[in-house]
Amino acid sequence: MIPITVVDVRDSEPLVLEVLRSGSIAQGPMVARLEREFAEAIGVKHCIAVNNGTTALVAALEVCDLKSGDEVITSPFTFVATLNAALEAGATVRFADIDDSDFCINSSTIEPLINEKTVALMPVHLYGQSADMDGINDLVADRSLKLVEDAAQAHGATYSGQSVGTFGLGCFSLYATKNMTSGEGGLITTNDDVLADRLRILRNQGMRERYKYEVIGHNYRLTDIHAAIAVPQVAKMFSVAEARKKNAATLNAGLSDLPSLRLPIEIDGRSHVWHQYTILLNENSKLGRDEFISKMTEKGVACGAYYPKLAFDYDCFKNNSRVVIDEVPVATRIAQQCVSLPVHQYLSSSDLSTIIDTVHEVLES
Ligand SMILES: *Cc1c(COP(=O)(O)O)cnc(C)c1O
Repeated sequence: MIPITVVDVRDSEPLVLEVLRSGSIAQGPMVARLEREFAEAIGVKHCIAVNNGTTALVAALEVCDLKSGDEVITSPFTFVATLNAALEAGATVRFADIDDSDFCINSSTIEPLINEKTVALMPVHLYGQSADMDGINDLVADRSLKLVEDAAQAHGATYSGQSVGTFGLGCFSLYATKNMTSGEGGLITTNDDVLADRLRILRNQGMRERYKYEVIGHNYRLTDIHAAIAVPQVAKMFSVAEARKKNAATLNAGLSDLPSLRLPIEIDGRSHVWHQYTILLNENSKLGRDEFISKMTEKGVACGAYYPKLAFDYDCFKNNSRVVIDEVPVATRIAQQCVSLPVHQYLSSSDLSTIIDTVHEVLES
């Protein structure tokens, strides 16, 4: 079986042992080192490590100072964490449609939803490619909005040479399947000194000094053990992205003759880190998406639908007055057509040939 993700963190062993032997395993110097090295790697002033990507989003939205009824505009085509975090932070959530070139929301789909209650925009840099930030940055500036970037899948991705997560408040996940991982973990990035300070306090029970509480806080701390797992991956972040980029190019070349597929593209001016390689089964495909996935899996190539339904399209969000549903025809279609194939850095050239041959077999049989 060719898996869709492989986790190999064996080279973290020396640093993890160092933490274990030190006897200080909670948030400490290794977390500080991870923050420093990640900030430096992506070119941002501050990085605040937290216990997962979802709490990173909650904390980032909390420092946007939402009042009851305030709206956040995000993507409907994302992992549910994006929506859950916004609801937990007290937002009313609205969904802009995505574009089918980059699978992200953009200024033309966001703008019609902006009204006097809109406080923040929360684009998701899906699959490892940046959203169209020029348009989004203009909206943020013109309408005095806050910007929270869900960069959970996009460590090291850039837009016009600038790293995602540095335009507004950036939220990264270190979950096991992400391009960089500590098992569980999250990173918040910002160039704003005041917000960085507030986030550090919020993460630690609202406490600046021991038992001096300044705000109602959380325990969103990361442990030094988790930080030690992640530290060696900061240095490898860009070479991992390069390996994934090469694999994506090989897959694109090998699959370009299939008329039933729409292949993913790296848009000019954006560096894609290929968290997922996602094809669309278009109207020429005889097979439905779910059937395609089960045939591929039967033949030994793991693949997945990220995401099979829109984030709000579950009973638990129906009739929730803080989940406002607008028509999103592009996202609705893509959720039915999308399939992600393995693209990770551990694929061999024979794995890549197997993936290409298997897609041909399944679609041409
Ligand atoms: C993984 C992910 C999250 C949440 O991160 P966790 O670390 O799992 O909490 C949020 N948004 C997106 C788009 C993700 O892929």
